[in-house]
Amino acid sequence: TVTPSEDVVPLVKSKRRIDVVAEYSKYQKDRDTLNLVVVGHVDAGKSTLMGHLLYALGQVNERTMKKFERDSEKIGKGSFAFAWVLDETEEERTRGVTMDIATSTFVTKHRKFTLLDAPGHRDFVPNMISGASRADVAVLVVDASTGEFESGFDGNGQTREHAILIRSLGVRQLVVAVNKLDVVGWSQSRFEEITERLLAFLVGCGYFKDDVRFVPVSGLKGINLVSRIDADGLLSAPAELASWYFDNDSAAMVADARNSSNSSSSSRAAGPCLVDLIDAFTVPERPVNKPFRLAVTDFFKGGAVGSSNSVSVSGRIAQGHVQIGEQVVLVPGGATGVIKSIDVDYVTEDWAVAGDSVVLMIQNIDIQQLSVGSVVCAGPPAKPIQAVSRFEAQLVVFDPQVPITNGFPALMHIQSLNVPVVVHKILETFDQRTGEVVKKRPRQIRKGATARVEIRAETPVCLELFKDSKELGRVMLRKSGETIAAGIVTSLFTK
Ligand code: GDP
Repeated sequence: TVTPSEDVVPLVKSKRRIDVVAEYSKYQKDRDTLNLVVVGHVDAGKSTLMGHLLYALGQVNERTMKKFERDSEKIGKGSFAFAWVLDETEEERTRGVTMDIATSTFVTKHRKFTLLDAPGHRDFVPNMISGASRADVAVLVVDASTGEFESGFDGNGQTREHAILIRSLGVRQLVVAVNKLDVVGWSQSRFEEITERLLAFLVGCGYFKDDVRFVPVSGLKGINLVSRIDADGLLSAPAELASWYFDNDSAAMVADARNSSNSSSSSRAAGPCLVDLIDAFTVPERPVNKPFRLAVTDFFKGGAVGSSNSVSVSGRIAQGHVQIGEQVVLVPGGATGVIKSIDVDYVTEDWAVAGDSVVLMIQNIDIQQLSVGSVVCAGPPAKPIQAVSRFEAQLVVFDPQVPITNGFPALMHIQSLNVPVVVHKILETFDQRTGEVVKKRPRQIRKGATARVEIRAETPVCLELFKDSKELGRVMLRKSGETIAAGIVTSLFTK
């Protein structure tokens, strides 16, 4: 007889075990999807930009686009046509697609992307947050037109808030689309002014300089989105932009070439377009070797293959892998079941790994035993996740109407779960960059500050330390419909 090793979950049915990690490494490139969130101040042009991008990448058919154009002309808002591309996907979502995960997907030369929470709406912040908590990478859109960059960046603008928020949720790689440059005549000095101010700010909130790239674009006119401008002056290139936007990486090389061959300056390559930059995002390593965890975002009775005594759950696999026939445990509750079927991005598969958006059909689990926020874990002998009522977190505080003090009640979001919590104790505030303590046991946390706090939840919540799991270790606090803080879990108290 074969004794299963410590970390191998026994298959319940006599099915041939798949070496998922080995299989995955074969298909890794095809499967690796980056979750992209688009953030920025209201009216910066996020929807227009992403709508135009999806259209230019061939994600929207010509007829649909023509219809959007006609419809938006009719109501005198011709320029909204591209934004409607995203609203349409939003609508489709509310029309009954049960997974709230894949809003839109698109492919570039080397990468597959899932566009999280299409930002077509005014109440974008809450949407953005649930998206941001799953984001690997981000596009920050800023409006370059006169006065508009400033109103998004200074005062109550969302440019800063969004940039801090996504960074505190673990996003490191960022492309800044300096949008609406058509409005200011493709001015190089305006582009550089914005780049300088933003870069200083972004580095200040913890981004590495090399992980942030800036690109001049017009979402509305579709310039520099999916193809480079033609510096040799084809009609599509605005002459002003073509006169200064060059590829720095190749500049030295080109200069060399010029010296030796005496060619004209127009041979300098144009700078990268938006798609070039997002195609160059690096794929974070998927934690495929950790024990399996899936936080449930949605569930329903029955499923794809015969529905007796089974449920289907959807979500994105936070870590590990799973295959048909494997035993799983639900936390909280501890109910066990067996995986009957697996869909990855709506396609039936035998296995799935960390990073995949899946629907799992599980046998022997009653729907009563499930709730949003339940975590499906690898069965014994693997250790399941813990549900805790007390933990420590590092919070970045935004702009709450009432300052956060000891005993402050709020609503905590983790993945798709909302739980009432209390900020039980503020332990200290500290400088986010240096890590130095600013104040021990402060009475309150000020706007913009970073603090270490103890949080108590009304009901036990499945959490991991952020250092062990990005997905299950990030939380968000809201109050009166406003997001007041975002944070990462730094210790769990089991007693
Ligand atoms: P969101 O709130 O960030 O999603 O912004 P929208 O995509 O709804 O755009 C806000 C407004 O800016 C709309 O009237 C757009 O037509 C306009 N707009 C967006 N991108 C551009 C651009 O590149 N150039 C110009 N001139 N206008 C733009």
